[in-house]
This record gives sequence, C-alpha cells and structure tokens, in this order.
Amino acid sequence: MRAMMHRAHDYKHLVTRWRRVAREAGLRLRPLAQDDGFDLFYLETPRLAGTPGLYLSAGIHGDEPAGPEALLQWAERNTPRLAGWPLLIFPCLNPWGLRNNVRTDSQGRDLNRMFHLDTHPVVAAVRKVTQPHRFQIALAMHEDYDAQGIYLYEVQRGKGCFGETLLRRAEKILPRDPRRKIDISMAKHGLIRRRISPAKFAKIGHPEAIWLHLFHSENTFTFETPSEAALDLRVRAHMAVLDECVRRIPSAA
Ligand SMILES: [Zn+2]
Repeated sequence: MRAMMHRAHDYKHLVTRWRRVAREAGLRLRPLAQDDGFDLFYLETPRLAGTPGLYLSAGIHGDEPAGPEALLQWAERNTPRLAGWPLLIFPCLNPWGLRNNVRTDSQGRDLNRMFHLDTHPVVAAVRKVTQPHRFQIALAMHEDYDAQGIYLYEVQRGKGCFGETLLRRAEKILPRDPRRKIDISMAKHGLIRRRISPAKFAKIGHPEAIWLHLFHSENTFTFETPSEAALDLRVRAHMAVLDECVRRIPSAA
C-alpha cells in the first residue's frame, strides 16, 4: 500500500489547482505581485463590489501549510457557489516561504509585521487591492508549532463577537489549546480577545489582522492550528472556520 503523501509545499501545484477552481467558477485568477521568483495571484468576486464581504488570506508564513491547502480545498468544494459570494481571496502570500518551509521571505522579513508600510512588494499589492473594500469578516489563516490545540485571536469591536462559535465548529475536528497564556496573550478556552494597543503595534509593526481591523473589517480573526497535528485534520479545522464565516455573510445566504 502506498503511503499517503501531500503536496502542501508545492506552490506550482497549488496555483494549477486554483486556476481550475477559478475557471470552473467563472472567475479570474488575477496577478497580484512578483516576489522572490514567484508569481502571486488573488481572486475577487464581482459580488464584492459595494457589499461588505469576506476577506480570506493564507500562507503569509511559509512554514504554516495547512492554511493555503485548506483555503484551496474549501474553494474546490464550493466552486459552484464561489461567484455568488462577496469574496477577496489571497491564496498564498509567501510562496518562497511555502516552498522552503520558512516563516519569512527570502530576506528574512516577516510580512505579517509590515502592513503599516508599502515597502514590501507583496504587502503593498495587498494594500492596494484591498483599499476600496470593507469587509464584514476578515480571516487570516495561520499555524503554530507550539500550539497544543486550535486557538483564535479575535479583535474586539463592540458587541456581537462570534469567535466562540468559530472555535465550536473547529473543535469538532481538533481540540482547543488549553493554555491560559498563549504567546504573550491571555487565552480562555482557546479564545484570545484582544484590544488594539497602537503603541505596541507601532513598536513591532502592523500584522495583517491589525491593519484589517483599523481600516477594513468589522470582525477580524486570526485562526491557528497546531502544526504537530496531522495535516488533514488541520486542513479540516480551517475549513470548518471558513464554512462558519461564509454562513455569517448575510448577502451570501
Ligand atoms: Zn503565522
């Protein structure tokens, strides 16, 4: 019997599959930027024009392959419905990192600390493409090799937070991280609700989620899977979160 192999670090294969999804969905895979010898792409559905939709991004850290794989599998599963939903999708923001299984780009830069700047070609392109849009929900898909389960950052903005619901969907696949303190934040059953401290982020640089919260999205999430768990479970946990997010876009119902 052949062992099951995955190709989660194969960027070319990822793009080939995205091309097929786009074609079958009647959408266009649009060029985003060129960086480190790779062509990057994004998808924007026509329904996004004038509708607060869903922002989805994966693969900003190259050693976190479940995000790009899950986003693609989710799109493959929902191909006939994609064009009817208001979506902006960045399938993989750091192909060089994915190919080399490294968090940063080839120059050691963490893209997820550069969203206050236009100095990185990929980040600058994302900022430009996103500029005209507002989102009901923004989701950044990540992984953590220290994690003991799934966890979620939720940026607080008034009432109506539903991070807990996202975790409830995903914990059917993988358990929550039980730690009370995750990285430097206090967590409760895998949920980290954070307020934005402008001083802190001025010092470390803006992550994608902070930039989204400040300028583009009503509800902003960063979902993390434990990279020591099996890849197919991590992928399915991400897909469960994606399903719940799209369910919560009123115009997508
Ligand atoms: Zn990450």
